Formats: sequence, C-alpha cells, structure tokens
Amino acid sequence: MSRKIARYLAEHTVETPCLVVDLDIIAQNYKRLAKAVPLARIFYAVKANPAAPVLGVLRDLGSNFDTASIYEIEHCLAHNIGPERISFGSTIKKECDIAAAFARGVRLFAFDSEAEIQKLGRAAPGAQVFCRIYFESAGADWPLSKKFGCSLDMAADLLTRAKELGLDPHGVSFHVGSQQTDPAQWDLALGKTKMLFTTLQERGIDLKMVNLGGGFPARYRKRIPGTETYGEAIMKAVTKHFGNELPALIVEPGRGVAGDAGIIQTEVVLISQKDYDAKKRWVYLDIGKFGGLPETMDEAIKYRLVTPHDGKPAGKVIIAGPTCDEVDVLYEKSGYDLPLDLAVGDKVQVLSAGAYTTTYSSVGFNGFPPLREVYI
Ligand SMILES: *Cc1c(COP(=O)(O)O)cnc(C)c1O
Repeated sequence: MSRKIARYLAEHTVETPCLVVDLDIIAQNYKRLAKAVPLARIFYAVKANPAAPVLGVLRDLGSNFDTASIYEIEHCLAHNIGPERISFGSTIKKECDIAAAFARGVRLFAFDSEAEIQKLGRAAPGAQVFCRIYFESAGADWPLSKKFGCSLDMAADLLTRAKELGLDPHGVSFHVGSQQTDPAQWDLALGKTKMLFTTLQERGIDLKMVNLGGGFPARYRKRIPGTETYGEAIMKAVTKHFGNELPALIVEPGRGVAGDAGIIQTEVVLISQKDYDAKKRWVYLDIGKFGGLPETMDEAIKYRLVTPHDGKPAGKVIIAGPTCDEVDVLYEKSGYDLPLDLAVGDKVQVLSAGAYTTTYSSVGFNGFPPLREVYI
C-alpha cells in the first residue's frame, strides 16, 4: 500500500467497502511501461478503470485509449481526449455504434470476423482496421483466448477482404491473456504475427502495425517479473521476428497501469464456524463477488489481504462476501490464512485492486450500493 493511501486511510474514515486509488502510482506505472517499450504507442484499456481522474492523468501524460463500447468512446471524448487518440478495440460492435464512433472521428477499429468487417466497410469507410488473431493464453491467470480472435489463415483472408471493401488493412492484434505471468508468450504470438505479415505481403498488402495487447500484470499473491523484464522480452521478440523492418507498435495495458494503484478498504462483518470441530473459520467481508471482486471467480485472481493483526498466529479460513448467494465465496481452495485475533468490525485491505473492480460491481444486488471510489 502506498504511503499516500495509508495516510489517507489514517486521516479519513471511509464508508466501506471503498476503493482508494493513488493517482501518482497510475502515472508511475504508465511512465515505467512507456520506458520499457519505448517504440510502442500506449493505448490504455479504459475498461480496467474508467474513472475520470485516471483518464485525466493518462491524457496529460500523452496516452491513447482503447475502448470497448461507444459509451467508453463518449466518456473519453467528454474528458477532452481527441478521437485520434481513441481505438475501438472490441471485436463485437453494433453497426450503429461503429457509425457513431466514425462520425465522432474515431478511425482505428478491431475485427476478427467476416460479418464484422462487412459492418466496418459500410459504417467506417476508409478506416484503419486491424485483425485480432486467436492466441492460446497459457500462463495467464485471467485468459482472454476462446472468445476473441481468428486463425491465421482466416485473418489473412479477412485482411485481404478489408482492402476490397475499401478499408485500410492496417495491422494485426493479439492479447496474450490478462495477468500474464510469462513474458515469453509475446514471442510466440509475434512469431505467428510475422507469418501473417509475410502472407499478406505476398498478396500485395503491406501491413504496418502490430498491436501487442495487454497482459501486463499487477502484484497479487504470486511474485511476478518487473515491467522492465516484460519490455525486454517484447522488444527482443519484435526484433527477432521483424529484423530491421519494425512495424509500428501498440500496447494496451489495463491491469498493468491501474491494478497496483488502488486498494479496497473493507470490514469484517462476521466470523463463524459451521460445526464445533470445523477446521476452517468462515470470514465474511462487506465485499464479495458482486461488490467488485468477480475476478475471484474460480479463485483466478488471488488478492493480497492486509489485516490489523498480521504477523500474529493465523488459521485457515474460507473468505466470503456478504450477499445471500451461494456463489459469493471468494477463496476456499487457495489456502488463505487469517490471524486468529481477527474480529468482527476489523478493517481488511484488499491490495492491488485498482483494476477490474469498480465497474464490475453490481448495481444493487441484495440492496448493496455499487463500490465507492476515491482518487487521491
Ligand atoms: C481487456 C483488454 C485489454 C487490457 O488487458 P489487461 O490484461 O488488463 O492489460 C487490452 N486489449 C484488449 C483488446 C482488451 O480487451
């Protein structure tokens, strides 16, 4: 937890659960990544944390923005981000939304299917388009593999088709999976990308851009390599596959920029046992899967927790949220221990919770309000 957040929590009583984000860390993470991949333009993935103060900091640092819907595009435009700094990176768009984005000046779009490129041809004539290729996201704690992208041979045909439809076949994108713990994955994806570049070249189409996606990790329970290690692995892989003919590069970090910048202040609502010789205590927090932590689904993302009694004897626990829903259990199998002194009313901090939390929280399930948020 940053000193700024610790001081804020010491001086203010926040109504819990509440996300507190240190904007200096947002800036720091952005600058560190920009330095690690100096040749790439950064498009911040707005969906990770679209709060106005976060967008403002990144806008002023010169970032571009990758959006997932017309609503995120409107949101960026409303915060003085010009359309030339926005990409419409979702591969699943309504034609009317493509037209609306185009009318507002957005000129960079993703696709991964024939039907989508037809829509783009009609609604965004002449726009720069890039094809997302399928990539098995081994090593990612939050994979993004099955739902997006297409095969290499299909991508080659779709990019060719894009040109016939009057679009500008600009490049190729992939996403190695979110919270990617293995920097070598980019090398595999770039190898495939280069093959596609070669195929297209043989057909007389010169692709110009590679979108390296997101995947840069936040620090959860498991230790991860530093941003610099990712940068080195990526730049080495780009040079290995493209040699002297380097394409324009884009990265789309979401979690890697916003994740470590925030913590969620929560409170223990109940601690109980289900029978007298139970091996584990149940600890119920005032936040759960519906309150902003759905990435605990299948215990995929394992947040670090801080309690007032850390360092004292601890025992096994099952950690759950406050709603009347059986799936609202955060951790049962991942081996979480919490101090035996932990008591009802204690504050517990969920670390590195700045990405994929506020916008994931439900609107009023069981009557609980959406996750509160503070930006300092
Ligand atoms: C979600 C998403 C990102 C951000 O991914 P992170 O792993 O959070 O960095 C980037 N690009 C696309 C297309 C996405 O859908």
